[in-house]
Amino acid sequence: MSDALESLVAHWVRPEIRALNAYHVQPAAGLIKLDAMENPYTWPDELRDAWVELLRDTDVNRYPDPSAGALSARLRETMGVPAGMRVLLGNGSDELIQMITMSLAGPSRCVLSVDPGFVMYHLIATFCGMRYVGVPLSAGDFGLDLPAVLQAMAEHQPAVVFLAYPNNPTGNLFDEQAVVDIIRAAPGLVVVDEAYAPFTDASFMPRLGEFDNLVVMRTVSKMGLAGLRLGLLAGSAAWLDEFDKVRLPYNINVLTQASADFALRHKAVFDAQTMRIRSERTRLAQGLARLEGVAVYPSQANFLLLRTPPGRATAWFQGLREHGVLIKNLHGAHPLLDDCLRPTVGSATENDALLAALAAVSSLG
Ligand SMILES: *Cc1c(COP(=O)(O)O)cnc(C)c1O
Repeated sequence: MSDALESLVAHWVRPEIRALNAYHVQPAAGLIKLDAMENPYTWPDELRDAWVELLRDTDVNRYPDPSAGALSARLRETMGVPAGMRVLLGNGSDELIQMITMSLAGPSRCVLSVDPGFVMYHLIATFCGMRYVGVPLSAGDFGLDLPAVLQAMAEHQPAVVFLAYPNNPTGNLFDEQAVVDIIRAAPGLVVVDEAYAPFTDASFMPRLGEFDNLVVMRTVSKMGLAGLRLGLLAGSAAWLDEFDKVRLPYNINVLTQASADFALRHKAVFDAQTMRIRSERTRLAQGLARLEGVAVYPSQANFLLLRTPPGRATAWFQGLREHGVLIKNLHGAHPLLDDCLRPTVGSATENDALLAALAAVSSLG
């Protein structure tokens, strides 16, 4: 890069953007991919054939239905959105986080969440020129430190509070009453992000009507449709009509609208898959806990958080990759995550491969 080009870019690109590292996705070719909370199961052949048949009759020369009406109705029903609440669709729930944050952004305003938490809340706050306040979770069990959250909200008056329920990357479900206390005390909006809803029985969806400042976010990614990019926000029209104004037209493409509607008509297939993942989660957690020096945390999501003996996480992570298994190394991501690794729960075969590889790697110390 020439000096002139470099200084041109340095002059015009906002400093907070230049300071960021681009979101990094690990190369996974040839590896058992347990790093990204994907559903390991593919579709039965009959379903695949019917889907391809449907796509054959889908016209891509036309713009999509701008409001994705049929798909919205299907999602309302499958996600149990209460009557009287509106829904807004995003190109992944990441886009919904961006739409909410853009709508509420302002130079003196901040986004509040808990750390370690979902990194996109912090990143998108930065994109939108907002300050991010991250309140540490309790060391030990990664629960909400309610007094600390209440104190930080009183001090910083956040425009929006994001809480992932269950939390990523820790996998635990926060205490319901503590979340309610946060919603009641928050000066602005509270987004309960239920990306892992298929793997828990807890949800704030039925309680939407109780709070003026609550919206609930869901995604189809973790249930098995990550490739489609589709998220849903549910809440009162008063909020969602405003967020809808910053939505780019036609954000849900034709193929996603047709495919997601089709898939959700066969939701029983996905329910069976997510139930298998839940039972594999129990089996994998037990297998991991039996390994010397490994501590496994309780999870209500489709991944497990584990802690290695001090200073071993990166070596074990690399050792696993040499054994053909890719997981997420969280060591260094946050002080509370020192020595932590996060494998996604895969198929029985994949989980066995992970257990065998980890047994081999951990036996080396
Ligand atoms: C994976 C994840 C999302 C992102 O979902 P997409 O719909 O794929 O954009 C949102 N929130 C949390 C907590 C997640 O873990």
